[in-house]
Amino acid sequence: MDFRARIVTWTDVEKWCSSIRDQVIDSFVPDMIIGLSRGGLVPARILSDTLWIKDLISIKTEHWGITATKSGKAILRDPGKLNLNGRKVLIVDDITDTGQSMKLAYDFVKSQEPAEVKTATMLHITRSSFIPDFYGELVDQKNWAWFIFPWNVYEDLDNLLSKVLNGRASLEELKTLLLKNFDLKIEDTLLETVINDFVKAGRIISNSGVYSREKIAASQ
Ligand code: ADP
Repeated sequence: MDFRARIVTWTDVEKWCSSIRDQVIDSFVPDMIIGLSRGGLVPARILSDTLWIKDLISIKTEHWGITATKSGKAILRDPGKLNLNGRKVLIVDDITDTGQSMKLAYDFVKSQEPAEVKTATMLHITRSSFIPDFYGELVDQKNWAWFIFPWNVYEDLDNLLSKVLNGRASLEELKTLLLKNFDLKIEDTLLETVINDFVKAGRIISNSGVYSREKIAASQ
């Protein structure tokens, strides 16, 4: 197996965000949310709704270039200067895995001298060097997986398939390849929808239900 990958459902996202909301309400009254783009955007928007915080902005961190492949050090993309004077800030991301992105964002926000700053992630992996104040679920590092969030399905499946689709494969064979290489269990309907969209977008070639990355000559 290359590495484990797991599909995250919208129900999981709702459950984790609602757990974070409950923990925040019990201990902290933020007046501003900073979502870390891109992974933290949706949870940050959900928490902006459920915590009645209309002041929602985002800053961009970059770390993992390609699914489960770290592109060196985490960096913060030109956040500019934020006036956080007197603000009570909640920083939100999808996951703390190495913890580098959240640490970077936390240090930057702190440097802008807000009144208070706390952090929340939906998933927190035990190996992370940064421990968020609030998290939806703790994942033991021995259960590490690449979590495919509902807003990253196309990008992640594209990356996973590019690792395993060398020749040609039917939908059933693609499913088997994903299971064998990433222990990934994926609903037929989801895989079918995504593959059809990849074909429409020209990212995968379909030849009578057989898929490949390269154009196959008609006679073959
Ligand atoms: P952290 O600093 O906590 O490790 P990274 O800097 O490694 O976070 O990763 C930044 C972003 O990469 C995360 O916000 C998330 O979108 C994505 N990411 C990292 N690890 C995983 C994972 N195990 N599953 C899914 N996405 C991940």
